Amino acid sequence: MTQEWDAGRLDSDLEGVSFDTLAVRAGQHRTPEGEHSDPLFFTSSYVFRTAADAAARFAGEVPGNVYSRYTNPTVRSFEERLAALEGAEQAVGFATGMAAITAVVMSLCSAGDHVLVSQSVFGSTISLFEKYFKRFGIEVDYVPLADVGGWERAIKPNTKLLFVESPSNPLAELVDITALSAVAKAAGAMLVVDNCFSTPALQQPLVLGADIVVHSATKFIDGQGRCMGGAVCGRSKEMNEVLGYLRTAGSTLSPFNAWIFLKGLETLNLRMRAHCASAQVLAEWLEAQDGIEKVHYSGLASHPQHELAKRQTKGFGAVVSFEVKGGKEGAWRFIDATRLISITANLGDSKTTITHPATTSHGRLSPAEREAAGIRDSLIRVAVGLEDVGDLQADLARGLAAL
Ligand SMILES: *Cc1c(COP(=O)(O)O)cnc(C)c1O
Repeated sequence: MTQEWDAGRLDSDLEGVSFDTLAVRAGQHRTPEGEHSDPLFFTSSYVFRTAADAAARFAGEVPGNVYSRYTNPTVRSFEERLAALEGAEQAVGFATGMAAITAVVMSLCSAGDHVLVSQSVFGSTISLFEKYFKRFGIEVDYVPLADVGGWERAIKPNTKLLFVESPSNPLAELVDITALSAVAKAAGAMLVVDNCFSTPALQQPLVLGADIVVHSATKFIDGQGRCMGGAVCGRSKEMNEVLGYLRTAGSTLSPFNAWIFLKGLETLNLRMRAHCASAQVLAEWLEAQDGIEKVHYSGLASHPQHELAKRQTKGFGAVVSFEVKGGKEGAWRFIDATRLISITANLGDSKTTITHPATTSHGRLSPAEREAAGIRDSLIRVAVGLEDVGDLQADLARGLAAL
């Protein structure tokens, strides 16, 4: 038997609460069962009371679920919680981060539109624009991330989107999001920020002036390397277009994965602070070591955009990249000498990972393209996890000893 509840007291009143409270409670709509944790709805379709009710819901005249390709209560809870944390009117979940990026372009651009992309974006994002969107008549140009004047000069009358990843992977470069949003606005274009590396715990691009945020939830939102997922966040006007695309294209987020991400969001801020604290310790320690030529981490005073990073982000992130002596051979010897850290290209996991960008994530670029992107053969990227920082330092010391 379902207990009788006063519906008004089933859900928490979230008027005026702060980020950490929203992360734990936003987006939950309790059922009459009165469950405390978020429920997981595994159902592909929904029943209607009458044929007329079915018709009204299909026509969108009354709200309610129809089919889980485009509405599912667990996915919606994740979308509402993430939207609350990003300061967005609405969010739309997707099967992967790449599906989310595809959806932005498919729903907001047409043949003949021009898109500007920051040079150092995720490799699959570049492939998506180069191999596929160009084939359908979308013009694409690349701009160095940090140079706001360069973005302004690259704008054309048909520029529709500016797409950036800030901070960038693996060198942690930034762009002044507020300044770039002014450039986009003056051109009648929209600024899209891939906020995967910072998450809303460290940076809220919409609050800084961006129009749309995309996420790979696979990374820090999950936080433990289990599930694939993505999301697009922004104003309802654009998000309804994105939702319309999802309804038709079907790159749907699984409710199970959405449930994992809901739980991930509850601890996001705590985890990001721990990731950042350990990354800072390791970056400072690496910078003082003999075998290290350069450390790229925006939390270091030596980082060229340290002041912007302090202003624009609440933390400098989990990714520490560094150049070792001895080129590629040195970098491979360093990586192979570690015993605790995982040799894998994923990031945003509680387990620390180490990778050689020049021969993995950036291996498809030509040597000249790699040089332009600043990806040297001696570069190593570490995505700092949640293990004891002393144990991580000891493992990196094994790498140093092998140089
Ligand atoms: C991983 C990643 C993506 C793609 O996300 P998937 O969930 O793997 O599809 C996009 N952008 C950035 C910055 C990423 O790190």
